[in-house]
Amino acid sequence: MANASLVIGNWKMNGNAALTRSMTAALREQQEPTANVKVVVCPPFTLLGELTRHCYYDNIAVGAQNVNAHNNGAHTGEISLAMLQELGVEYVIVGHSERRAMYAEDNAAIAAKVTAVTAAGLTAVLCVGEDKEQRNNDQTWSVIEQQLSAACNELSRQQASKLVVAYEPVWAIGTGETATPEQAQQVHSKIRGWLKQQFDAVGDETEILYGGSVKADNAAELFAQQDIDGGLIGGASLKEQDFVAIVQAAQ
Ligand code: PEP
Repeated sequence: MANASLVIGNWKMNGNAALTRSMTAALREQQEPTANVKVVVCPPFTLLGELTRHCYYDNIAVGAQNVNAHNNGAHTGEISLAMLQELGVEYVIVGHSERRAMYAEDNAAIAAKVTAVTAAGLTAVLCVGEDKEQRNNDQTWSVIEQQLSAACNELSRQQASKLVVAYEPVWAIGTGETATPEQAQQVHSKIRGWLKQQFDAVGDETEILYGGSVKADNAAELFAQQDIDGGLIGGASLKEQDFVAIVQAAQ
């Protein structure tokens, strides 16, 4: 029995206007406005406005894949929180492993973004996770604890109430290799413990998502784990049928 409450699709640098229309139509068809699972779609920046026009149900929201922590100014090519808010964006993915690895985002930059997003009242979806070598060297928890501490130590409880944590083992992202439900639950329960220690009751309520090759056929058993509150979905969020099936597995 799934206990998931949140499913987020990360389109990465994929998609077009037609996909925003067909995806929202497919989601609306299967999701009643009262459904207890919230769905967030995070397309590239250029599609945010188009997507907002089609997401008028409370349980379908729009998210961005990144943001700049500064308010405005000489940051050529960057997008601010105010710009996202103007487009109706409610969620922002922060610290995705692709940004850490390919765009040199370090823990300090990620902390600044988490702080800015949550202070503005949007929800930050903080991605954490170990790579293969770190897992093989039994460093999984120390890596994640460091990522959590660096990003969240300065957050107030009010800001923490606007935080979602996504556990995304780097070795499982886009590889077809998924953490087993037991492996994922083991890490999620440690993240839950850390959040509770840091933020008391707020930490108990924080949604912790699993991400890494979630598909229609493995979503249900992942979402059935006690501390897995939903999923951050990459590749499978680009196909209407697959994404809808994952949302259904969460219900
Ligand atoms: C992701 O990029 O956040 C992700 C989980 O990708 P995939 O589902 O394709 O592994």
